[in-house]
Amino acid sequence: MIKRREFIAGLGSAAVWPVVARAQQQNLPVIGYLDWFGPSRNAPVVVELRAGLAEAGFIEGMNLSIEYRWANGNSRQLSGMAADLVRRRVAVIVAARALAPVLAAKAATSTIPIVFAYAGDPVTEGVVTSLSRPGGNVTGVTTLASELDGKRLDLLLKMVPRVRKVGFLTGVAADTGAALYNATMLAAGRALGVEIVSAECRSDLEFEAAVAKIVGSGAGGMILSTFAFRNREKVVSLAALHRLPTIYPFRDLVRDGGLMSYDTDIPAMYRRVGSAYVARILKGAKSADLPVERPQKFELVINLNTARALDLKVPPQLLTLADELIENEPPTAWDFVPTITVVSAAGDPRLPLVSDAVAFWNDTFAELGTPFRLGALTQVVGAIPVEDLKKLSSLVTTRVPELPERIKRISGNIVVALSEGDFFSFTRRWAALNKVVVAIKDYRSFPLTLSNVARNVIAHELGHAIGLSHNADPTMLMCGRPASCRPDVFASDSPKYFGLTESDKADLRRMYPQSWQASPAKID
Ligand SMILES: [Zn+2]
Repeated sequence: MIKRREFIAGLGSAAVWPVVARAQQQNLPVIGYLDWFGPSRNAPVVVELRAGLAEAGFIEGMNLSIEYRWANGNSRQLSGMAADLVRRRVAVIVAARALAPVLAAKAATSTIPIVFAYAGDPVTEGVVTSLSRPGGNVTGVTTLASELDGKRLDLLLKMVPRVRKVGFLTGVAADTGAALYNATMLAAGRALGVEIVSAECRSDLEFEAAVAKIVGSGAGGMILSTFAFRNREKVVSLAALHRLPTIYPFRDLVRDGGLMSYDTDIPAMYRRVGSAYVARILKGAKSADLPVERPQKFELVINLNTARALDLKVPPQLLTLADELIENEPPTAWDFVPTITVVSAAGDPRLPLVSDAVAFWNDTFAELGTPFRLGALTQVVGAIPVEDLKKLSSLVTTRVPELPERIKRISGNIVVALSEGDFFSFTRRWAALNKVVVAIKDYRSFPLTLSNVARNVIAHELGHAIGLSHNADPTMLMCGRPASCRPDVFASDSPKYFGLTESDKADLRRMYPQSWQASPAKID
């Protein structure tokens, strides 16, 4: 699957420039792609659009060319871009990711077929006359976003049943459909007996003020509307900071630490746009004959770690409804002295940083007055296969996967892999096996290239191995998701470690009290 996507993405990249040029010379069909955001030819939705076209036999650069136009969220540019595509006599215009490009394309032509993909309500918004018989030159794929926000409110209230006021973080520009969403959200609130506090964001720079308004109103929960595509991760950090239970329209935000999401597979919608709409029109179908499709399958994803961090007990009913539960094993203290094995190339520049980090933590334990220490460090020359580490890294927010046999066989309780692979550095614990894997990414890749950062990344990951979780302070060692932390803050010309918060220290005192004693059964 991933290989295939990379293959398709590769087709759209610079490597095929000469072929694109040839395609244009031969007057092969050209489609126009008008995107509200961008520019990102590698965004999952664009990749899937090309994959859908390829599925139906149209491969960009070989027998199809695509004219991309990116509005960068600026609606004033859209009409000029749409008019330009019409002048170029493209065969089809794909209007993507918001209502605004759909309206701009519709205003620019009543003859060239327009295929939309956006979350909205195309009938109410005047895009088509009906979903089953769109009429005219416009059709496409949509989620009825306003209906979904009501459903999200219902699910959020199942999580926090006593809450009577809920914040709704939405866009303001008419072209995001915000007015419609707002009205249906208020109605949904009335129906469920809760007050909705709307906070508008004109741009992603306003997230902080908007969330502050919601928090200030005394709301006990928040719903993120679908409008926020750019910098939307920021909302996850803000919700964590304010301890605000929040439901999102995008599951990737829940994998990144958001509480819960209710959504559909958006990239799959774009694959349909490619295979079932654009390709068919290129083969002679009339857009007026292609009914508007709505995805039928919606999924609830809940992050149980985040629920725990917010002191929420997830009701059994929601656990049953959930399609995916994200859960890490809760951090636990070592009840014996763990041994450490470092697997790396001979002379890896990070080797001394590992012993430094062990010394840093053992000094910390001494200061805290606990007898607990990290144990002996052994170096093994070699490498853990990068594909094993990449896989574990990608699964780091899910339930604990199987530990690959080849890692299981490495002795030592904490296995530190100083890898030359490029992935997110991570730490993962297999409690039943008394094993922790700490994987550090290639030192020649960002952010480890910044001076003093590798040192702190290694100490940070060992902090997880000891049992610490993340905090939200970007100037502290254990800062991490869902907060937004900046590795560049750790950059320094002189080697130094960033500090522990009072709550980190309290956690360590609780896990490793002065009375800590190695459990005799575990000594081997
Ligand atoms: Zn971390």
